[in-house]
Amino acid sequence: MFKKLKIFISFILLFLHSITLSSLSAQESFLIGSIEERCQKALDYYLTRPDLETEYFRRLEFCINTVKDVSPEGYETNPIISDFFSKYGVNGRTRVQVHQGVDIIGYANEPILAIADGVVLETALADCVGPNVVIDHGLSYDNKRLITIYSHTGDYLVKEGQKVKRGSTVAKLPEKIEYPCMARVRHLHLQIGQQYCEKKDKNTWGCGFFIKDLYSSLNPNNFWLKDNGKVRCFEKDRKYKQGVLTYPFKCKKK
Ligand SMILES: [Zn+2]
Repeated sequence: MFKKLKIFISFILLFLHSITLSSLSAQESFLIGSIEERCQKALDYYLTRPDLETEYFRRLEFCINTVKDVSPEGYETNPIISDFFSKYGVNGRTRVQVHQGVDIIGYANEPILAIADGVVLETALADCVGPNVVIDHGLSYDNKRLITIYSHTGDYLVKEGQKVKRGSTVAKLPEKIEYPCMARVRHLHLQIGQQYCEKKDKNTWGCGFFIKDLYSSLNPNNFWLKDNGKVRCFEKDRKYKQGVLTYPFKCKKK
């Protein structure tokens, strides 16, 4: 009798173990901060959608194979999943229009840092896209206006009209992915235009999404990449030249 019970219990344990293994929450545990782990966390929308398991694995694979690690030597930071001018979206689908911004994946509630000093023009919810923070970062080193849209954010940490310092947290990445344009992948879309649409001009001709030059945006990489192709991370107590940008996520020492 006892033996039978023992067999029964081990059978149950084995069964439970296999369930855990096949569930989305218990995939291989990757190294903290590794590309694999970052992709997995950016896709945690799927944790509550076991019915989309096939899609999850496809997107995880796309993410791992696609992201660009821009971390400087000895540091790690959030990788870019869809770069400026990319033909593909964060979900691997072909875009209708080449990408006008940079998409950077991240964890739930991760702080989004101001890429330079500036003034908050707007915090606004947009259909499909979700929450946005728009900041006037003044002029670039080559005298271009830097009207920057931080999209697909979670909670705002700044108010309209507020002055912000480079490296300060302007918003957090969302915990839940609720808006369709986020494409089930947690990421910051950062886009730089030069002509801001005043609120009164909103939704008038040419003013669809905060800026007038929606399809002639500036490439953020031109302002935050260093000669070695790695990003300039924000460092406290460091002086930056006017018009130079720093990456919108923290860089951690390895
Ligand atoms: Zn984007």
